[in-house]
Amino acid sequence: MEVKEVLADCAYSGKDNLDYLYEDEITPIILLQPQVLEDHKDTGFEYIKDAQGMCCPAGHMSIRKAKQRKKKGTNKNQQNTYYFDVTKCQTCPLREGCYKPGAKTKTYSVRIISSTHQRASDYQAFTQRKKVRGQIESKNAEMKQAHGMVKAKYTGLFGMEIQAYLTSIVVNVKRMIRLIEEAKVAA
Ligand code: SF4
Repeated sequence: MEVKEVLADCAYSGKDNLDYLYEDEITPIILLQPQVLEDHKDTGFEYIKDAQGMCCPAGHMSIRKAKQRKKKGTNKNQQNTYYFDVTKCQTCPLREGCYKPGAKTKTYSVRIISSTHQRASDYQAFTQRKKVRGQIESKNAEMKQAHGMVKAKYTGLFGMEIQAYLTSIVVNVKRMIRLIEEAKVAA
């Protein structure tokens, strides 16, 4: 079987999974975890592209930016940290919950979306294919809840494969009967 696309929910949107799919030229139609995408949308902080800086809820621009290094052995995205002028924070009417009194710095960090996640995100923007996932998921739910696929009946992949084939045959036969019945009613 040649696999061209994988449709999955956001639990499968890890970078390793996406890289693996891209390596095999398989298109992921996978909803990304919300925190992978721009995660500052509801905070009042806004990235100003022209100024290449972050604007805080009080309307002040960041004064510098630093890129946090990726920790060795982790798969976490890198971050950009934006620094704000604390003299403005000290007298800011919006400082509660934003600036800790006495702190020498005020920073705000934004995850840098990896090229892998960016690629998956770009694809999601124009694809309608993920609608199909809903239909597949409901059949999966039927197989799990009504036909015991929630639990492997046998140990080993071969046993699992047999269980999956037999369960698929059952749900397909049910569907065939339903379609025949509907055709009879319509006739
Ligand atoms: S406390 Fe500082 S960073 Fe926060 S809104 Fe006020 S000026 Fe902006």
